[in-house]
Formats: sequence, structure tokens, C-alpha cells
Amino acid sequence: MPFIATVVLSLASQTSTSTVIDRLRDRGLTDLGAYEMLKDLTGKVGARVSGSNGADKAVLWVERQMKAIGLSNIQRVPCLVPHWERGNRESLTISPGGELSVCALGMSVGTPTKGVAGEVIEVKSLEEAAKLGRRAKGKIVFYNRPFDAKLASTFEAYGGAVDQRYGGASVAAKNGAVAILVRSMTQSRDDAPHTGAMGYEEGTPKIPAAAIGVRSAEKLSALLKRGSVKARLQLSCKTLPDKMSANVIGEIPGSVSPEKIVAMGGHLDSWDLGTGAHDDGAGIVHAMEAVRLIKVLGLKPKMTIRVVAWMNEENGGRGAEAYAERVKREPHYAAFESDSGGFMPRALGVSKSKLEYVQKWLPKLQQFGIERFVEGGADADNGPLEPLGATLFSLIPDNQRYFDVHHSRNDVIYNVHDRELEFGAIAFAALAWLVSEEGLGD
Ligand SMILES: [Zn+2]
Repeated sequence: MPFIATVVLSLASQTSTSTVIDRLRDRGLTDLGAYEMLKDLTGKVGARVSGSNGADKAVLWVERQMKAIGLSNIQRVPCLVPHWERGNRESLTISPGGELSVCALGMSVGTPTKGVAGEVIEVKSLEEAAKLGRRAKGKIVFYNRPFDAKLASTFEAYGGAVDQRYGGASVAAKNGAVAILVRSMTQSRDDAPHTGAMGYEEGTPKIPAAAIGVRSAEKLSALLKRGSVKARLQLSCKTLPDKMSANVIGEIPGSVSPEKIVAMGGHLDSWDLGTGAHDDGAGIVHAMEAVRLIKVLGLKPKMTIRVVAWMNEENGGRGAEAYAERVKREPHYAAFESDSGGFMPRALGVSKSKLEYVQKWLPKLQQFGIERFVEGGADADNGPLEPLGATLFSLIPDNQRYFDVHHSRNDVIYNVHDRELEFGAIAFAALAWLVSEEGLGD
């Protein structure tokens, strides 16, 4: 092709990509469709713990939404999920001190009806708990290491504290403890307890594990500095047999290369204390709104753009496993995940091999808050697809308020901002369009 023609052609395609992105922005910020969908999901379905009726309703909800948007090839990708239930009774009473705010950690065993009682012993780490030896026998071990306030990223602070929640029970049980309490995984100053997955090491006794609110943790710690404190913990949670559930997928088939699949999504299950608005209703509607915008504008992407609503991210990852099995037979070109909340976008994570290539897209994405691309792109659900050949992207929103709501009763629509949420959806739509129309340089 003569040089001039190449320049004219590439300029024309550049202009049209920019025009498309402007149209996605204009329509998105006018409709605020992501918020409307999230309001519907959190209001009509509510909490969606794997195996619950809420999770079953959520599967139907996504299928209905996908039909309404006009997606093709709507399917379930089945997966067997754990079925844990909180039950309706949880309480923690300390003496001296009275009632504290408490919730069972996800997957914990319950207590006998009258509860378990013991003297409380405070530690700041798993190592310290391991060193208690016989001193932990018959006691309730209280893990109270807070987030490191010096870290700018709250995700890093969470990563530095969450070993207490996940692994604390088995470490304490090895020394004969009867239960554990964990300071909630948050920097918030309120007293809402935050749940989240915990696990038991094989071969160690399964003891009840609960989180307490930050103010409750501080009160308990202050009392322990004055003398001995006894506690009685009651939890009615239990694990039922595994249950069949499913990921849900739907797509806009590609007009030129339908075999090239650009998938994007979040996880459909949530914890039960709130309604999973940020975690991860936001990720679900980011992807759903992105394809809705592409559809309503009558755009025809070259590659197939697919939404994936993954099941069971919170306490098992069975949906991600089942989906990765499918991708072994149906390779993906790219896979985006949003599972860091519905706040204003700040960056996009991307697989290392494409970090340099995508820099040229930054000027088109900055208006949506995407200040930079950073190496990464792997989250819990899309992560397994990278070894299978997919280039990964992850949405990185502002994170300062995320752990205020994460896994707590505060994770509700009231704490989601309609425009901030929409910017995430538009960023996904624009990114999907860029990947589909321009490829990733291979
Ligand atoms: Zn999540």
C-alpha cells in the first residue's frame, strides 16, 4: 500500500476509534446504566452467598439482564460450590465489658447452642499465637494486628493483615484454643464487623472463628491491659453439602474474528452482611454496562466481546476453576476483571508482556480516570486464564474507602456513587473496543 494511503487509513481508523469512545462516554454518563443495574441487583436479589437462594436468584437475574441487553449465546458454566450458612444467632459477651459486635467468618464451624467460653488472650500475629504453646489451652485467642496505616494502598494493608483471618483458627487450635476472634479487616473507625473467608488446616481441630468490629477490638484490648477478660461466643453458622451453581456468560459475537474472545466480568456471589454492592456487584455491572453501551450504540466489534459473571470467588473459587477448564478448549484473547470496588478508576493492570504496547491507548482512557497502566492484570477469577494464553487486564479504582465497606453491612448501594461507578463501565467498554479493533500487537 502506498505510504500516503496507509497514513490516511490509519488516521481514519484512529479518528473512528476516538469517535466511538466519545460516544460510549456520552451515552454512559447520560444513562448511568451501571448504577441502575446495581440498584436492581442489590435491591431485588440482595446478598448472594454461594449455595444460597440469593445466589440462585442472581444467576437468573444475570440471564434476564443479558437477554434484555440483547447478548447472544447466553449460557451457564456449571460448578459445584460450597454451601455455608450464617444462621440467625451470633453473639459475643465479655466479662467485664458486656456485648461486643461480632460476626462469624465465612466457612467457620458454629458453636454449641450455649456457646463456647474461655479467657481471652491477645496476640498480634500467627507467629505469636503459635508461640503461646500450652498457655492457649482452653482460651479464646484474639488476633488484633491492625492494617499498617503507613501503607498508601489499602489493598497492601489488607494483604499484610488478612493471614490472621484466613489462617488464625488452625494456628490457635494446635495449642488447644477453643475459638478465635479477629479484629475486622478494615481501617474504618466504626464498629461494623467484617466477615470473609477463613480456612482450616487438615488434621487440626476445627474451632469457631469470628470477626469483631474495630471499636470492639479496641475496647477488648484496653480491658485486657487491665486484667483478665472472659468471653462467651455463640455462632449458629454451619456448612451444608456442596450445591450445583453456575457462572453465567453472554456475548456480542465478533464481526471479523469471532473466534477471538475478549472476556470481562466480576464475581456474582457476595458475602451476606450487606448486599455486595461494591464487592462485587460493581464488577458485574461494569461488564454488563460496557456491553450494553456497545449494543445500544449499534457498534459491531471485530472480536467477540463476552461478559462472564463468575460464581464462588469469596469462598472457594470453584467458578473460576470451571471457567478455566472451558478456556482450555476455547482459548481467550484477553480477559478483564473488576473486583476492587465501584469507586473512581485510577489505573488498569495489564499482563507484563503487553505493558509497553498498551501505553499508546492512555490518552484515550485518561478522561475516565485511567492515569496509568501498571504491570499485573490478574485477579482471582481471570488469573487462571493467563497461563492459557489470555492477556489480562484489571480495573484499579481508588481504594481509600473500599475496606470501609468490604464484607460488612456497609457494602450497600447507598455507598456507591453513580458517576464513579459508570466511569469504570465506560473504561471497560473503551478498553474492549480498543482491544477488539486494534488487537494487542500479535
Ligand atoms: Zn470480591
